[in-house]
Amino acid sequence: MISFYDLRAVTRRKAGGIKMVVNNVIDSGRYLFGDYLSIFEEKYASFLGVHSCVGVASGLDALRLIFRAYIEMGVMHEGDEIIVPAHTFIATWLAVTDNKLKPVPVDVDINTFNIDSTKIEAVITPRTKAIVIVHLYGRNACNDQVIALCNKYRLKLIEDNAQAAGAFFGNRRCGAIGDVAGNSFYPGKNLGALGDAGAVTTNDEALAEVIRTLANYGSKKKYVNDYLGFNSRLDEIQAAVLYVKLLELDSDNALRREIAKYYCKHISNEKIILPVGAGDYRMITDWEEHVWHVFVVRSKNRDALQSYLKENEIETLIHYPIPPHKQKAYQQWNFPSFPVTEQISDEVLSLPMSPVMKSADRRKVVEVLNKW
Ligand SMILES: *Cc1c(COP(=O)(O)O)cnc(C)c1O
Repeated sequence: MISFYDLRAVTRRKAGGIKMVVNNVIDSGRYLFGDYLSIFEEKYASFLGVHSCVGVASGLDALRLIFRAYIEMGVMHEGDEIIVPAHTFIATWLAVTDNKLKPVPVDVDINTFNIDSTKIEAVITPRTKAIVIVHLYGRNACNDQVIALCNKYRLKLIEDNAQAAGAFFGNRRCGAIGDVAGNSFYPGKNLGALGDAGAVTTNDEALAEVIRTLANYGSKKKYVNDYLGFNSRLDEIQAAVLYVKLLELDSDNALRREIAKYYCKHISNEKIILPVGAGDYRMITDWEEHVWHVFVVRSKNRDALQSYLKENEIETLIHYPIPPHKQKAYQQWNFPSFPVTEQISDEVLSLPMSPVMKSADRRKVVEVLNKW
């Protein structure tokens, strides 16, 4: 079986370094707020090119804390509107609704899978406070139009950078483009811990300080509580693992890029649409920016294609089969339909992709796909 993402092999490749730092943590006797947290926060901030990084317990917490902090700071208020892409993992929306803010979805672009910036201005109202862009599948979602809208209407630009650690928008890293970003280090992400972990990254020092305080029971000074905070920590073991894995993030992403290029060059089947739409890899203009968290193709007969690949011992996944606005959890909200997002959820299929994928395996994936 060719696995979608062989997490064991991914970890094994760095096992020496990981075991060494985990042993250091065990021996140190400090399991929270120790040296590895500070080192990782500093290294990840400088990797992205931002002033502040606050380690937290997960990517969802990072996003929730961003909205919570803006509410505490008086920038946002209950019922304010937050523009989000219709096509994303549900965490993007949960961070908004969890803070009693209103998600205002915008449909996405069929070729990039990212928010369609031409459709944003029509939904902006006096209550709109922010645009959330999600760098989905590892591809930057920002463009000049999004930035211009944020400036024109004085909106915060919030990045959901769960899937694009290491990616670029021009010469800026994703996670360092907007006012603030939520990052996830869930094990399967490009920069993955050995458990849950996340971080907020920003150049806004005041915001970072509020988030750091909120994540620690609302307390800056022990037993003195400024906010009704909660507990969301990035522990020492995860911080140490992330510190080791960050050293090779760029080279791991380069390996993903090679697989993506191989797929784009060699997959040739008119029933399968490559991530650029037209099916010509030369049309991808952002090769050096994209980090291919997943490699997504489209097909009108997606389910048949997935079964066929399974019969041929190739594991695939669907990101995502049901969009947030169609979920039972959001049933009461009566969202309108988002045709491109709905088409995408019926057609997308994610092929095996990882920095440890063998060349024989990618060759087999292409051969099997081309025979379909
Ligand atoms: C993974 C993910 C999250 C949430 O991250 P967790 O660490 O699992 O909480 C948020 N948004 C997107 C787009 C994701 O893919």
